[in-house]
Amino acid sequence: MLVSAKEMLTKAKAGKYAVGQFNINNLEWTKAILQTAQELNSPVILGVSEGAGKYMCGYTTIVGMVNGMIKEMGITVPVALHLDHGSYEHALKCIDAGFSSVMFDGSKYPIDENIEKTKEIIKIAAEKGISVEAEVGAIGGEEDGVVGGGEVADVEECKMIASLGVDILAAGIGNIHGKYPANWPGLRFDVLEEIGKATDPMPLVLHGGTGIPADMIKKAISLGVSKINVNTECQLSFSAAVRKYIEEGKDLEGKGFDPRKVLAPGVEAIKATVKEKMELFGSVGKAN
Ligand SMILES: [Zn+2]
Repeated sequence: MLVSAKEMLTKAKAGKYAVGQFNINNLEWTKAILQTAQELNSPVILGVSEGAGKYMCGYTTIVGMVNGMIKEMGITVPVALHLDHGSYEHALKCIDAGFSSVMFDGSKYPIDENIEKTKEIIKIAAEKGISVEAEVGAIGGEEDGVVGGGEVADVEECKMIASLGVDILAAGIGNIHGKYPANWPGLRFDVLEEIGKATDPMPLVLHGGTGIPADMIKKAISLGVSKINVNTECQLSFSAAVRKYIEEGKDLEGKGFDPRKVLAPGVEAIKATVKEKMELFGSVGKAN
């Protein structure tokens, strides 16, 4: 059964570790992440962007697939199914479809409008026990074609949004989506520390987890980050493994063209990436 992300993240914050949000793209992705979480006895959040939602034939299809896998695979660790960077309309669609968590990304709105819309989502989600993540200060980089500039959130705005009753808060601290440029100056720990103090005990989220050095991840966790989003890194490891299989001509040997064989190395690569992240974040063995 899917669960809200609230309880697992509250536990993570208290226990000084973070739960990974791994974005899914298809059946193989979802299966690989769930299998790894179960093997490592770790709570997990499956992230779905609006683009991936459309790709996978809509939110009800995804809910059906994930619930089916939890049952068929005997998954017992806490699993949250979460809309990543949702618009107001899509947050409502996901709540209807059976997601257990939604992010409403109102960072593109003026703060007053962000507050109004966040309040409405919270009210509707709360009735169904669904957790809500809000964002203050756009996260830089590109996500579904939306490009932001690596902003740093305003502490007062964070405090305001946190006080509305959201369960999880994403605040820009110089992090960006996708690969980090060579001249990236690093995370703004001074700002993270202030936001952490102003919003405690709210679990904080670090978006754009791909390519942030391990020591920075650990420091961010020590300052209150309890959810870390990983997306690009699984895509990179998946495509590298599938490319290797094709380049070695394995699809041309025997029944090597079987899609289940072509994608198998990609699935193993995702599992390895997810394992590495869960170990780094400290969520291994924290499912109960
Ligand atoms: Zn993000």
